[in-house]
Amino acid sequence: MTATAAHRAVISPAADPRPNLIGLDRGEMLAVFEAMGEAKFRAKQLFQWIYNRGVVDFDRMTNMSKPLRAVLAERFRMDRPEIVKHQISEDGTQKWLLRYDDGNEAETVFIPDGERGTLCVSSQVGCTLTCKFCHTGTQRMVRNLTPADIVSQVMFARDALGDWEAPSDQRRLTNIVFMGMGEPLYNTDNVIKAINLIQDGEGIALSKRRITLSTSGVAPEIARVGAETGCLLAISLHATNDPLRNELVPINRKYPLKDLMAAVKAYPGLNNAKRVTWEYVMLKGVNDSEADARALVKLIKGVPSKVNLIPFNGWPGSPYECSDPDQIKKFADIIWKAGYSSPVRTPRGQDILAACGQLKSDSQRIGKRERMKMAAVQAEKEAETGLAELRTPES
Ligand code: SAH
Ligand code: SF4
Repeated sequence: MTATAAHRAVISPAADPRPNLIGLDRGEMLAVFEAMGEAKFRAKQLFQWIYNRGVVDFDRMTNMSKPLRAVLAERFRMDRPEIVKHQISEDGTQKWLLRYDDGNEAETVFIPDGERGTLCVSSQVGCTLTCKFCHTGTQRMVRNLTPADIVSQVMFARDALGDWEAPSDQRRLTNIVFMGMGEPLYNTDNVIKAINLIQDGEGIALSKRRITLSTSGVAPEIARVGAETGCLLAISLHATNDPLRNELVPINRKYPLKDLMAAVKAYPGLNNAKRVTWEYVMLKGVNDSEADARALVKLIKGVPSKVNLIPFNGWPGSPYECSDPDQIKKFADIIWKAGYSSPVRTPRGQDILAACGQLKSDSQRIGKRERMKMAAVQAEKEAETGLAELRTPES
């Protein structure tokens, strides 16, 4: 593994011109086989080999004929992103900087916790938004990650953790949170497709109850995620009144608390077994008073909720300090006494800048001309193999 390269996005096509099958859903795989004049059931086999068994070599697809394997290998690949940098924290957290075919990079973090292991995935390179306490928010938005980019973070992690071969109850990666780089609900179509691929029972098969999407509050998109994926919802609240939230989480100016609360209350299937998580970063002297805690209790009244208090994780140049432990405890107690679970999140992977809000990559936005050139090269590649019509357009 090499050190991070502060480089601009590479615009040459991937060295390997074959389209990557990772990211295709069942319907798209079916279309691949139909276009090749092959039987439909082959699509199901391919789907299982790729997403359930994690194979990276067509020759391991032993229920397909040798000539068919050869044709597939000639036309397609099943590559994971390239590892640019791998860091392991003293607390066991692992962070990988991954590079996609177009040269853009995103981080993915694995947080082991007893029996449980959570992968924190990124949904964008950079972020459209600029929450004041967040390191990712200082990186300009470069591009949305595609369903393939997102799912391949999970597949890559299963490779790295040796999870494909493990019996399902002994896998290290048990949960996924969309809490890495980016705002998932500014990339909703791709994120929904990725979640549905990840939870497909014939593939990676991670239950929707183990997938949590965190949003800074893109209110109009919230209902869709619930209806189309059924995953758990986390809201980055951080303030209980509009003036302060406007400052900390600027998207609040577009979707104020009233809209956000209405969207959360309407989230499909919320009940005591499926509660919304309110994330609240503890900023010293900013949002951490006892009055703030009481206001929080009042705001979420009637919503099946848990509150996750996140000690602020600093980063170079950050404008805030973390609240004192005593103050965090007082805050947590008020919420607890009001009947809500209020764990204080243990910062993980701080020594490798892997904790909440510390992620950032060096990828920069490239110009429109370069993007168009890249898109043309990609389209040409895909047209050659008939994949062009199968792709869901990137939003
Ligand atoms: N964009 C999404 C998901 C990624 S951020 C969102 O904002 O919800 C994941 C969580 O980390 C969010 O709750 C975010 O508010 C929080 N966070 C960001 N910067 C942080 C920091 N410096 N310290 C602690 N938590 C932070
Ligand atoms: Fe983007 Fe979330 Fe960071 Fe806000 S907290 S800048 S939405 S990644």
